[in-house]
Amino acid sequence: MALRSKILSLLYPRTCPMCGRYLSDEIVALEHIEWICPRCWIRMPRTEQDVLRQNETEEALADEKRLDKAAAYLFYEKGHPVQYLIHKMKYGDQPELGFWMARQAVLDCDNESFFEDIDLIVPMPLHPKRLRERGYNQSEYIARGISEITGIPIDTTHVVRVVNTPKQALQEGEERKKNVANAFEVINPRELANKHIMVVDDLITTGETMKACLKAMHSIRGVKFTVFALCKAR
Ligand SMILES: [Zn+2]
Repeated sequence: MALRSKILSLLYPRTCPMCGRYLSDEIVALEHIEWICPRCWIRMPRTEQDVLRQNETEEALADEKRLDKAAAYLFYEKGHPVQYLIHKMKYGDQPELGFWMARQAVLDCDNESFFEDIDLIVPMPLHPKRLRERGYNQSEYIARGISEITGIPIDTTHVVRVVNTPKQALQEGEERKKNVANAFEVINPRELANKHIMVVDDLITTGETMKACLKAMHSIRGVKFTVFALCKAR
C-alpha cells in the first residue's frame, strides 16, 4: 500500500456507510468506488431522467421558457441513504463525495446527447457568508465531477448570490419563495451571450431556488439552459 493511501485509510477507515462492509483496496481499485460499497451503490434509486423528457425535474421548472432539458440523477427521500450521502457532502465536510457522485452520474448517463452542445457549467452559487461558514460550495464539486468527464468548462464568476436566504428547514413555502426570488444576480451578462449553460445543484426540492437563479440569468441575451441536479426530492 502506498504511504499516502496508508495514511488515508488510517484517517478514514474505509467502510461502507450503509452496510458497514470493509471497502478493500481491491474494491476501490476495481470499482473506483471509495465511498459506498458496490452492492449498496447499485441500490440507489436512479431516476433515469436523462432519457425521460417531461420528467419530475423538468416539471418542477415547467414555466422556464429557456429550458432545453433538466434531469436529476437520484431520487431523494428522507431517511433513505441518499439523504445521508447528501448530508455528508454538504455539512459533513466531504465535498469530494459530490465530485465522485457527479462523475458516476455522467458515466451512468444513457442519453449520449445529454451533455452535448453545452458551453459552460455554472454551479448553483452560495452566498459568500454561507461559503465562508461551510468552507466550500458543494455544487462546485459536482460541476468539477461533470467537467472531468465531459471536458465542459466551469464558470463561477458571473452568477452570484446576493441574498443569504435562511436554511430551507427554517422556512415555509411562500415566505421562502419570496426570499429566494431575488437572491441572484449576473455580473457582465454580455460575456455569456448566446451560450448554452448547464446549471448544477445538489438537490432540487420545489425548484424555487433553481427558478430564481434561472430568472436572474434571463439578463443574458440568447441564453439556453440545461439543469442537472444530483437529486430530486419526491
Ligand atoms: Zn454497503
